Amino acid sequence: MAAADDKKELARATRTYLAREADAGRGDLWTLAAGETPRPRKPRAAKPAAPAAPAVAASPAPKGAIATLETVGLTEVPGLSPAGDTLEQIAHEVRGCTKCGLCETRTQAVPGVGTGKVGVVFVGEAPGAEEDRRGEPFVGRAGDLLTKMIQAMDEKQLIPGVTLSREAVFIANVLKCRPPENRNPLPHEIEACSPYLKRQLALLQPKVIFCLGKFAAELLVGAKGTIGGMRGTVYRYGDSKLLVTYHPAACLRNPNYKRPVWEDLQLMAREYQSA
Ligand code: URA
Ligand code: SF4
Repeated sequence: MAAADDKKELARATRTYLAREADAGRGDLWTLAAGETPRPRKPRAAKPAAPAAPAVAASPAPKGAIATLETVGLTEVPGLSPAGDTLEQIAHEVRGCTKCGLCETRTQAVPGVGTGKVGVVFVGEAPGAEEDRRGEPFVGRAGDLLTKMIQAMDEKQLIPGVTLSREAVFIANVLKCRPPENRNPLPHEIEACSPYLKRQLALLQPKVIFCLGKFAAELLVGAKGTIGGMRGTVYRYGDSKLLVTYHPAACLRNPNYKRPVWEDLQLMAREYQSA
């Protein structure tokens, strides 16, 4: 009967769809992370690894070239850290920092976590309540999602031969102290605090910097913009490649962001391999 055939066909199409989603890393792990089941959608053509436009991003500029600095709108040369600087030294300074008013409302500062030994750095916005309590970035709800993203990348072997974990990468924020009520970082706070992040990046010299959300993206790209407009482009920050995606908290609010975020992680993995 025609109706039975339709049902069979639908079941087959669903199985195919789910298998493809799982292959693309949108199976259980990634999906459960946000407590959502995937909705069928037409697959989109994959983005090229290095988009042709805007021109700034397509190919690595020669080391030290002025064009590189203009590319990301930087007013200072990234990659310079004081002699003898260490992650521990920076963390020590951050924990005692009183350079902005957030020192008065924090429980503790949150310098960063991980070794960065695989050359991947994730940069978020600022600690939330749980991070402020524990002194570690991305350990609340959005943090669980980031941890699952890293685990999914590892499980899917997005970067073949490279083991990814919170310990192997480095995770930090633009601001090291929690803004009250999780309000947005203020410009003078970003100005006061960002030298710590820049020192961390200068020390780690990662292959890839992955910005989570607008504040990390605008700071490190060096220009105002929207995530929608910046994602998919490969920027440079010093000798590192820099990519941008939606913040995990945005994914929690709107699960439709999970797909583009996974695409951006895949792009990051490809760029890592050609770095
Ligand atoms: N937790 C963090 O550490 N950073 C964010 O940006 C959000 C949650
Ligand atoms: Fe210092 Fe940054 Fe904390 Fe402000 S947010 S007190 S600049 S560590």
